[in-house]
Amino acid sequence: MRQSRSLIVAKSQQIVGELGVFVKRPHRAGEILCIVRGPVRARPSRYSFCIGQGRHIEPTTTPSQPDFGRFTNHSCDPTAFARVAKDTLGVPYVEVVARKDLLAGDEVTFDYASLEYDVTVSGMKCQCGKASCRSIIHGFKDLPATIVRRYTIEGMIAQHLLVRQTDASGNKTASSARDSPSTSRPIP
Ligand SMILES: [Zn+2]
Repeated sequence: MRQSRSLIVAKSQQIVGELGVFVKRPHRAGEILCIVRGPVRARPSRYSFCIGQGRHIEPTTTPSQPDFGRFTNHSCDPTAFARVAKDTLGVPYVEVVARKDLLAGDEVTFDYASLEYDVTVSGMKCQCGKASCRSIIHGFKDLPATIVRRYTIEGMIAQHLLVRQTDASGNKTASSARDSPSTSRPIP
């Protein structure tokens, strides 16, 4: 069983037959729950974490770092969010951060639409069971404006998506010019 001092992979409470990640001890809002590292690929996979246009981290396991990212489920009212960061060598990684205070046994979830412009599981029925469930798992491009606003206030939306949103409204930014345009989106 994959576990660390503070996290464990076990049967998901919200998705029948799937695994999920749970905290083994209480965590404060803003605390980093786990780090997702791995090679950066041009194409997404079911488990990858988007860190920019055409850039997706494929979670990998190391002896000191179980790949909790692979088992972190989507929720429309998540307990955590994903934040893109870089180490001192400039290597990107993702921090999964507690959105609110968590109790031992709480499942770690994040809203895929706060990190992914589109998702490989797009169109799949969401089973999060939250009152605010949007029924279908989708990416940022389909996230309702009211939720974009709420997540933005909470600092939950990845910077590369905010840049893209600015681009879409016609205001080109200097930072977006560094991203090479996506030539193909393999997502249906
Ligand atoms: Zn949902």
